[in-house]
Amino acid sequence: MGRIFNFSAGPAALPLEVLEQAQAEMLDWNGRGASVMEISHRSKAFIKVAEQAEADVRELLGVPQDYAVLFLQGGATQQFALLPMNLAGADQAVDYVVTGQWSKKAASEAKILRRTNVVADGAAGNYTAVPERAGWKLTPGAAYVHYCPNETIGGLEFHTVPDVGDVPLVADMSSTIMSRPVDVKRFGVIYAGAQKNIGPAGLVLMIIRRDLLERVADTVPNILRYAAQAKEGSMLNTPATYSWYVAGLVFAWLKRRGGLAAMAEINSRKAGKLYRAIDESGYYSNPVERASRSWMNVPFTLPRPELDAAFLAEAEKAGLAELKGHRSVGGMRASIYNAMPEAGVDALIQFMADFARRNG
Ligand SMILES: *Cc1c(COP(=O)(O)O)cnc(C)c1O
Repeated sequence: MGRIFNFSAGPAALPLEVLEQAQAEMLDWNGRGASVMEISHRSKAFIKVAEQAEADVRELLGVPQDYAVLFLQGGATQQFALLPMNLAGADQAVDYVVTGQWSKKAASEAKILRRTNVVADGAAGNYTAVPERAGWKLTPGAAYVHYCPNETIGGLEFHTVPDVGDVPLVADMSSTIMSRPVDVKRFGVIYAGAQKNIGPAGLVLMIIRRDLLERVADTVPNILRYAAQAKEGSMLNTPATYSWYVAGLVFAWLKRRGGLAAMAEINSRKAGKLYRAIDESGYYSNPVERASRSWMNVPFTLPRPELDAAFLAEAEKAGLAELKGHRSVGGMRASIYNAMPEAGVDALIQFMADFARRNG
């Protein structure tokens, strides 16, 4: 069987060139007679991999020097718990914007630890639009404002960075990081699980303003402190070395493709043509208001749910895989991260038109 077009939401497709390089280097990395995952994380050779990955993140995203770049574990979900522990005092409030399932989960973890205020909630509109900034009721003295710029399940995306004044803005960018340039200075913390748009699962990229590292209380165990990870180059204990290495290959691939401005152009074009195909079909539909639609995750439904099984089976036969929507939403979801070639989106659009014609 050849390679499929893989629309999985995560773990998601990786660029073919990256997989080929990892394959070629698997048994004998850099003439060492061993793979990169079989050597010490403290060896000179691995430190070089780690440092190059950080340098490439800094270059791709334009990360200023007063931000630390961390390579952590525990997934984005673990950060839902660690962020309030590291950034907020025991009696301090934290603000959360809820726009879908991931930001809701983040808020419910914070609630266990700190006084958590949901300052805007898109529930009334079934999370189909980004709540207007003017309506957010920020808490005076809050430690930070947390939001999720791209809701992977609902397919809802912020296309501008909300202005929250001097309060640090904390962003779960798991499913949108590196899809376009961002102005890092606008954020206190950016974090992302790697398995959507960066590399294999097991790794979390975090970009954190250094002054925020000082906030942590001494009641927080060392292993859970971002400051301790920053001090030790993210090697307080053994990091996810192989995921880190593959992420490095992805960063190099992004640089070869022209960086994030070039990716933004491709991503906006890919998403634009897929939404257009949905809207103009009179057959498929997507409930998200146009200005809030995600470039990365495109959910859509067929006219009748009874058609779903046939759609999925035929799509799979056509080499278009992992299109089943999230179990909480139903229907379909096409995740079209950086690694999804435009040809994959074109093939999906053509298949959808053909399926609609045959099952209208
Ligand atoms: C996938 C995802 C998560 C969860 O990531 P884990 O690595 O499974 O913890 C959190 N937030 C967003 C936006 C996601 O897409």
